[in-house]
Amino acid sequence: MRKVVTIGEILVEIMATEPGDGFNAPIALVGPYPSGAPAIFIDQVARLGHPGGIIGCVGADDFGRLNLDRLRADGVDVSAVRVDAELPTGTAFVRYRSDGGRDFVFNIKHSACGAVRATPQSAALLAEAGHLHVMGSSLFSPALVEATLSALEEIKGRGGTISFDPNIRKEMLGLPGLEAALHAVLERTDLFLPSGQELFLFTSAREEASAVAEILTRARAVVIKRGADGSSYFDRDAAFHAAAFPAKEVDPTGAGDCFAGAFVVGWLNGVAPGEALRRANAAGALAVTRKGPMEGAASAAELDRFLASHG
Ligand code: ATP
Ligand code: MG
Repeated sequence: MRKVVTIGEILVEIMATEPGDGFNAPIALVGPYPSGAPAIFIDQVARLGHPGGIIGCVGADDFGRLNLDRLRADGVDVSAVRVDAELPTGTAFVRYRSDGGRDFVFNIKHSACGAVRATPQSAALLAEAGHLHVMGSSLFSPALVEATLSALEEIKGRGGTISFDPNIRKEMLGLPGLEAALHAVLERTDLFLPSGQELFLFTSAREEASAVAEILTRARAVVIKRGADGSSYFDRDAAFHAAAFPAKEVDPTGAGDCFAGAFVVGWLNGVAPGEALRRANAAGALAVTRKGPMEGAASAAELDRFLASHG
């Protein structure tokens, strides 16, 4: 099996217990929960029994240990997660709005998350990798962009594959160098996994079918995540749509990352695209039913049971 590697933020999420607008007064909070888009993604990959590892950095604190313990317990290779002696582990405070939107207060760039650097351990992990998953949310500093692009070249250079989830939050737009980095990654992407308007970040086309066609002149496949409307797969020869499974949405954060983890595992193991979509939809549906972004990452047995009970 081709080992999957990702690079980026490992953090804790602390969430408001009640919906509302932001953090402008004292409110009740719950957490910490293990989080970070690439961390959730790779946790889902490992929970499905596929080898996976992450290059990242946490602080020498409880938030860092919470993440390392969880990732390790779920089978993620954390040998390339550096523990920084000075910087605290990253944090994200999230509050849902009543319209379903989210407000975040992030401490990522100036936390241990921003101190990812090449180490002998990261070189060793990359040397074993057959696939790299890039999260746009991880391209928040020149050092992270540099680490990601150099890993990308190395893995592509030996015949490996790249998947890319733009995963852009409104709080990130306008970061210097972000747009150029996103374009550089897309140029080398095999499997592109946007959600919502992210498809159009990279195209002159303004309508879905032509935007997909434009991306497919470069990438081998495009998978569009559509929240409660399911997902779609496109390559140069075929298109599949899969309706979402019914799910009681408790916490949608992390659904996209669990979806991507499950889809990439299927794709790498030669599962037919329609079936890989269905499994990924199941992973996304299970993810939204659990409070906490990483709590809903399902094992292969849980996915099988869920799929069996949903026809
Ligand atoms: P994230 O906020 O984690 O970045 P995303 O925008 O990348 O999310 P979504 O499209 O929200 O990803 O969710 C990914 C997948 O999870 C969907 O394609 C769908 O299969 C499943 N999913 C999400 N929300 C629901 C829901 N309410 N009911 C059932 N399935 C859902
Ligand atoms: Mg996402």
